[in-house]
Amino acid sequence: MIPTETDVLVLGAGLAGLAVAGELGGDAVVLEREERPGGLVRAELMGGHWFDHVLHLLYFPDPETEGKVRGIVGDALVPCPAEAFVETRAGVARFPLQCHLGTLERETVVRCVSDLARAAATGGPPPAHYEEMLLRTFGRELCELFFLPYNRKMWRRPLDALAPSGFQWNIARPALEDVLRGALGGGAAPAAPGGTWYPRPPAGAEVRGMEVLSRALARRVEHLALGVEARVIDLDRREVRGRDRAGREVRFRWRRACVGTLPLPAMVLACPQAPPSLKAACRELAWNRVWTVAFAVRGPRPRGRGHWRYYPGEAVPFTRLVHMHEFDPQSAPDDGWSLLAEVPEPGDATPPPAPDLVRRVREGLHRVGALPPGCRIVNERVIAADPAYVVFDAGTAGTLARARSFLEGRGLWPLGRYGRWEYSSMGGVMRDGFALGEELRTGRPASPVGTEASRGALAP
Ligand SMILES: Cc1cc2nc3c(=O)[nH]c(=O)nc-3n(C[C@H](O)[C@H](O)[C@H](O)COP(=O)(O)OP(=O)(O)OC[C@H]3O[C@@H](n4cnc5c(N)ncnc54)[C@H](O)[C@@H]3O)c2cc1C
Repeated sequence: MIPTETDVLVLGAGLAGLAVAGELGGDAVVLEREERPGGLVRAELMGGHWFDHVLHLLYFPDPETEGKVRGIVGDALVPCPAEAFVETRAGVARFPLQCHLGTLERETVVRCVSDLARAAATGGPPPAHYEEMLLRTFGRELCELFFLPYNRKMWRRPLDALAPSGFQWNIARPALEDVLRGALGGGAAPAAPGGTWYPRPPAGAEVRGMEVLSRALARRVEHLALGVEARVIDLDRREVRGRDRAGREVRFRWRRACVGTLPLPAMVLACPQAPPSLKAACRELAWNRVWTVAFAVRGPRPRGRGHWRYYPGEAVPFTRLVHMHEFDPQSAPDDGWSLLAEVPEPGDATPPPAPDLVRRVREGLHRVGALPPGCRIVNERVIAADPAYVVFDAGTAGTLARARSFLEGRGLWPLGRYGRWEYSSMGGVMRDGFALGEELRTGRPASPVGTEASRGALAP
């Protein structure tokens, strides 16, 4: 029986919500709209083929988080040094492109290196927008070859309308020596400190893919209410009202804190106490969704094409193709493999009819030669990640500061990639979840360096 009154009420059972609740034992209740915990890291099984919802490779922000997560997941989590490629008009190069130019057409390489050196030597005021930041960081030729077309396809918005930073990795110019080494054929990709990881459970395991991670975190959660959608967050009454899977109204109350991992604008709009001007600003926050078309393929597995490949060109609708068998050879029957195609679009776009999307992606697969001879698609499915990427323009940072300060001031702690409306990784949201859980449990600010969740003591 799940208590309807609790010390800490957690909204959403993605990695962030599961991490925080796992620290709090019986003192937390988690409400999750879906029938399974895991959020974005769930995996799907289709006729013996496993699919992640999106490309998911795990890395850790610090050794403490690594130790904790590996302790929770156990031996199923194994090192997975990934190899990715970029298909450009000048040839195919390893990712990151700027450090592996050596396989590209020669004159393009010369222009890439000389433009990058020129950009490095040019000073000036900070870039005013995203496009300018890319040009200043990488120089004209690398931008025209990859960064501009890829980002236009990824964001589907004019790049000069996007903020120069805040919603992407910290994009840094590589050292000229590394670019030259790569151009001469000896480049090495900068690896994540601590490496990259993926679950490879034993044959016949009940679950595969990155969902192994969320299942392990979910086992630490004492009170998990599935099929419950939070609709109203009443900050005065410390109460969440929602619907269960049978459509009945349900109410849950918190005594000390509510932790919200739902998308930040949705949380503000669900609060009757939020000022109308804040609600109006939150309605303007932009994001992208990603359609993942998952294909079960029968036939020989492609070799040497990497874990995934980037496609900056408009001739195909997807930005990336992901080969699941490279992450986990047992992700499909021996005579087949699982392929993901990611297609991003603005969150306010009218979703394409699924058959149309699948047809365009199938045509693209043939165009880029993604299916080796003897392969045929035996099944397919469209999976939505929505929201997938938050988008920053000039006004976003101000709205976020107001929204976070309003919610935190009233005892609702936004957490996770969408709760904090940020570009964060699985490792990052788990670190923040563990830290906030520890803070709530002990009443002391948590110590991990750089944690986004630690913002002062919450007295019990
Ligand atoms: C395309 C893509 C690729 C990525 N690749 C990587 C990668 O390679 N490596 C990496 O580390 N990270 C990657 N990430 C990021 C990673 O997936 C996220 O950081 C992480 O999964 C976020 O977890 P979360 O708990 O914050 O959010 P979510 O997983 O979104 O969890 C939120 C939960 O809230 C639930 N919910 C929503 N509304 C309600 C409601 N009203 N009531 C109740 N429940 C609700 C949802 O169902 C969901 O379960 C990627 C993300 C995307 C989109």
